[in-house]
Amino acid sequence: MIYLDYAANTPVDEAVLNTFVETSTNYIANPNSSHRLGRQAKEELDLATEHIAKLVNVKPSEIIYTSGATESNNLAIKGIANEYRKNGKHIITTFLEHSSVTGAFTALQNDGYEVDFVDISRDGHVDLDHLKELLRTDTILVSICYVDSEIGIMQDVEKIANLIANYPNCYFHVDATQAIGKIPVCFDNIDLITFSPHKFYGLNGCGILIRKENVLIQPLIHGGISTTTFRSGTPMLAFATSTDKALTLALDDLDNKYKHVKQLNDKLRTSLSKYPKVSINSTNNSIPYILNISVKGVRGELFQDELEKLDIFISTKSACCHTNTASKPVYALTKDRKLAMSTLRISVNHMTTMEDIEGFLLGFDDCYKNLAK
Ligand code: PMP
Repeated sequence: MIYLDYAANTPVDEAVLNTFVETSTNYIANPNSSHRLGRQAKEELDLATEHIAKLVNVKPSEIIYTSGATESNNLAIKGIANEYRKNGKHIITTFLEHSSVTGAFTALQNDGYEVDFVDISRDGHVDLDHLKELLRTDTILVSICYVDSEIGIMQDVEKIANLIANYPNCYFHVDATQAIGKIPVCFDNIDLITFSPHKFYGLNGCGILIRKENVLIQPLIHGGISTTTFRSGTPMLAFATSTDKALTLALDDLDNKYKHVKQLNDKLRTSLSKYPKVSINSTNNSIPYILNISVKGVRGELFQDELEKLDIFISTKSACCHTNTASKPVYALTKDRKLAMSTLRISVNHMTTMEDIEGFLLGFDDCYKNLAK
């Protein structure tokens, strides 16, 4: 079996799973209970939160635990829109975003907000001149991913943040779900940041939203104070400790992991670009963990199914998208509907070996000969 779909999900690290089990076994109380067992659980929660905050260079009070990046994105986007609607109803995003961002934008549009999509340049970066044109005094939110989940393009979030800083009513949300644990990240001048540990060998069903301390959001889930008034529910202690463990492991030796993945990506790019019907959609701004290609004239799902018969697992788009539809990010980048209908996303990680890549390339060659005659 060759698994090259790490952008969709990573296997949970045994140490992370052990942390989850140990915390769940050792701490039975609700961290908000006022008895000794509750206080002990709260101390453990605070330790995990402080450590996570330190790892991503924010304050512990800025961490909000959620059920995943989908909830974090919804909370950030709807939370800002509802809190600051008095300042305006204009919001901006891109066609590179995950469906949990575009879905939240669509919901707000149906609720009377005005949505604009900023253009993507041919290199995959947000067109800063276009963003400048779109920004207005009543723009209250810009949401742009650090790295998109399909083409893997890393945006220049610092430049975008500097531009947005000229608009005091406008908040900047960054979905960093595909960035954390893969590349060094800097969250300066970003108001809200989303991520989710199942992308870096953590558990599914939990996520994080960082809300900088001067930023207010309306909650989606109302109730008691939990760890914060912005998201109610019994504090998720074992999710917090296991996320801390996953993040600690993921950030360890990031440089060497990156170098290894870059070698795998170089091999994939060189080998795949020799096929006349293959078009590499990932650009020079894409991180090496994600390689997006199109096999012209072959629907992505068809190619994916053929590879699956050989026990090779890749995806066509983000796992949250409907099948048999065009890839919105690839269309935004290439303006070519046929290319956008025939995408394949190959996503690797530091545990992927060169043998995995060679095995994939052999399988790819077989399928190409069958399907792309
Ligand atoms: N944003 C991005 C960029 C993603 O890749 C994903 C996962 N596919 C999500 C958000 C949603 O994450 P979750 O599964 O944790 O809700």
